[in-house]
Amino acid sequence: MKTTYYSEQRAKLIEQLKERGITDTEVLNAMSSIPREKFIHTAFAQKAYEDSALPLANLQTISQPYTVAYMTSLLNIQPNDIILEIGTGSGYQAAVLAKLGAKVYSIEREYELYSKSTKILQELGFSVQTRFGDGTIGWSQHAPYDGIIVTAGAPDIPNTLLKQLKIGGKMVIPSGDRQSQTLYLITRQNENDYDSTQLEEFKFVPLIGREGWQDSK
Ligand code: SAM
Repeated sequence: MKTTYYSEQRAKLIEQLKERGITDTEVLNAMSSIPREKFIHTAFAQKAYEDSALPLANLQTISQPYTVAYMTSLLNIQPNDIILEIGTGSGYQAAVLAKLGAKVYSIEREYELYSKSTKILQELGFSVQTRFGDGTIGWSQHAPYDGIIVTAGAPDIPNTLLKQLKIGGKMVIPSGDRQSQTLYLITRQNENDYDSTQLEEFKFVPLIGREGWQDSK
């Protein structure tokens, strides 16, 4: 498939995201420069610029571009922000965060996805530090974070992650049951207080771990 084909498809997708209400030009610019087709299996490459989630290994998914754009916009990333992502998956969301100038740490619990995403992020030159493990307990060495983005559906908001936010830092996290989740935007006000706003409904794969669901079924 020719590069021009993908660039044209990518430009069309960016227009669709604008039509759906994404107005953050920094996020749209970042997404218009990242080759989403490189983060998925070649069998799905032709669908890379449809606004839909696509399958990854181990029954996981690369999130829908609208979801990536929406969640990223909510974090209002500034250059050099320190951001933690839970659920590296394909690595695409981490690439968008890195393109915005953030210092990105990303955790994945599926080894195959961890190793593939680490490789592609390196090959494409994105500076993202990845880790294999349970993201529900965060990554305390690099805390506190300006932003935390959780890309899998949680039964509750993990307390450990809340504690790793800076004062003034923001977390976006889908939480609900296994079928559907509400997206929450949480801002840490001070040591003990958090402001929480409920946003749109989404359907994510489950967040599995010590402060998530206990199993994958
Ligand atoms: N952000 C990803 C991307 O850009 O491709 C999409 C992520 S996918 C919707 C959710 C990911 O969260 C899956 O890869 C899944 O294995 C991972 N996950 C689930 N529970 C996790 C946990 N406790 N720690 C780290 N990753 C987890």
